[in-house]
Amino acid sequence: MKNRNRFIPLIIYLVLLVVIFSWANNLFGGDQNQIPYSQVTELFRQEQVRKFVVKDQAITLYLRAPYNGETTVTTSLADPEIFRLEMNDLLQAQKESGVLESYHFVPEKSYSPYDLILPLLVVGLVLLFAWTMLMNRANSGNPLNNFGKARTVLGVPDGKKVTFDDVAGADEEKEELQEVVDFLKNPEKFTEIGARIPHGILLVGPPGTGKTLLARAVAGEAGVQFLSISGSDFVEMYVGVGASRVRDLFEQAKKIAPAIIFIDEIDAVGRKRGSGLGGGHDEKEQTLNQMLVEMDGFSRTEGVIVLAATNRPDILDPALLRPGRFDRQIQVGRPDVKGREEILKVHARDKKLDASVSLKTVARSTAGFTGADLSNLLNEAAITAARENRPVLTMEDLNEALMKITAGPAKKSRVQTRKDLKETAIHEAGHAIAMYCLPTHDPVRHISIIPRGQSLGATWYLPQDDSANLTRNQMYEQIVALLGGRVAEALFLGDISVGASNDIDRATKLARDMVARYGMCEKLGTVSYLDGGEVFIGRDYQTTKSYSEKVAGTIDDEVKALIDKAYDHCRQILTDNAEKLHQVVQFLLDKESMTGEQFEEMMKGEEVTEASATALFDRFQESAESTDDSE
Ligand code: ADP
Ligand code: MG
Ligand code: ZN
Repeated sequence: MKNRNRFIPLIIYLVLLVVIFSWANNLFGGDQNQIPYSQVTELFRQEQVRKFVVKDQAITLYLRAPYNGETTVTTSLADPEIFRLEMNDLLQAQKESGVLESYHFVPEKSYSPYDLILPLLVVGLVLLFAWTMLMNRANSGNPLNNFGKARTVLGVPDGKKVTFDDVAGADEEKEELQEVVDFLKNPEKFTEIGARIPHGILLVGPPGTGKTLLARAVAGEAGVQFLSISGSDFVEMYVGVGASRVRDLFEQAKKIAPAIIFIDEIDAVGRKRGSGLGGGHDEKEQTLNQMLVEMDGFSRTEGVIVLAATNRPDILDPALLRPGRFDRQIQVGRPDVKGREEILKVHARDKKLDASVSLKTVARSTAGFTGADLSNLLNEAAITAARENRPVLTMEDLNEALMKITAGPAKKSRVQTRKDLKETAIHEAGHAIAMYCLPTHDPVRHISIIPRGQSLGATWYLPQDDSANLTRNQMYEQIVALLGGRVAEALFLGDISVGASNDIDRATKLARDMVARYGMCEKLGTVSYLDGGEVFIGRDYQTTKSYSEKVAGTIDDEVKALIDKAYDHCRQILTDNAEKLHQVVQFLLDKESMTGEQFEEMMKGEEVTEASATALFDRFQESAESTDDSE
């Protein structure tokens, strides 16, 4: 980027200024009487301190006459809070006996943007001067002039036009957006008969499901300009910048109309008002207000349509969703198996696939994956193939890529002792055997004690295809399976490890959901006690619990009872299958990993066959062949 070079002098100036400031500060503001911390405590013990002040990280002592005359010394504290705790008793005693006349802890100054104004002004002026001197050759002028301008990306960022063909498996979404395309292509047709085209359309869906892609495709289909900006670009430290960026964004759009404004991550700026945590929310409110004003302000004839994307529609300010603003929502969900196959086809267009590769099989075995995940999967596989200088991408590459994506890259270099490995093997075998013995649990797909990403080992299971609707029994059995690792440790190691903490978090969350969200426990009845979502974001933070302390206590009790029951259940399963568990552990220690098939063979007491290099797909292959087009 050529712009970056122009910032280098700026950075040098800033560094210089900081150095000068801190140097000057030390020279004039700093105290010459610096003593080490150990001496400070000593002075207190010798009752030499008359009074003291702790401010920021410095302590100033006013000493008693006999010692050193009426004098002050300062020294810096690593942590004032620790000092306070350490000295508390002594201070109290000395205060009471009158040795210590007074002391004061100046509360830590909270950081306010206003503190920056003065230094910034100075820095700004110096910079401005230097800048004009240095940059009079550059013709594009002072970048500070662009401060309130919207940092937009005009047109298509990488120069490639995106059309609906590039968006696969989102037929309903495309259909809804086709209307917008038609309007942008031919606005008169709609305005003449007085048809109402929405001002704003909100694309709602989890990350990676193609919201940005869809917005770009609408612009590509209609052949209009595409102005894109991210919600977080509006959120600046300086008051008023966000609002003026919004104004500028809409002005730009009107100038180049017909056009699409795309506001990505609108939740960054469109949060419910009056919900900010700490400072800085005034700025957000101003930005949001400006956005509302602009959306009301332009008329339908101007040929500007605003698309926005979010994965948290629940935290948006309701004013944004009123008629005339983002009054239409399009849900962009995770693709189903057919959608996944189509997306894979789109991304396989520019890759050479081996004849053995069945995208159908890959689609079947990637339930829950988004478009971005699938694109990533193919890309990882292509990288593996390229690294090994193979011209085509094979099913084995995809297998490795899938493993990598679902669990992080293998860290073979991590040194592990045999004892570590054995612990991991016992933990994972516990999960696997619990899954196997639970009737509603998905079958085991793969077990590994090769460290990947954050974890030491992993047990994959076959995800249920696309079904998001869990029954009480399924949820309960998931909890049992999650506890499998911990229970196995307790039973067969005689000790438990922190390796199960993630499992326990997830089990607890499931149990809480069952009790308090889905009304699945008798005692509390079919009542939902959760407001949903993360409590620390947006409005939820301030709402008080809508249930009594008594209910809160019951929820906790019921969650605990549920987990205890699952724990006992799991212990029963693993004790009954102790011998099998040891076989699995032995196998894992020998081979490091075990496919779902091998595991099942072992559980059934059959002979364990060799693992294939495409193990993650093997079962899907069969079903793909046998039930070919029956979707
Ligand atoms: P979002 O904005 O919803 O987070 P993106 O639009 O940024 O998701 O998608 C990221 C990438 O994932 C896209 O660039 C594209 O390569 C791929 N992708 C997502 N959904 C699809 C889809 N339906 N068809 C094809 N590719 C997709
Ligand atoms: Mg996006
Ligand atoms: Zn585990």
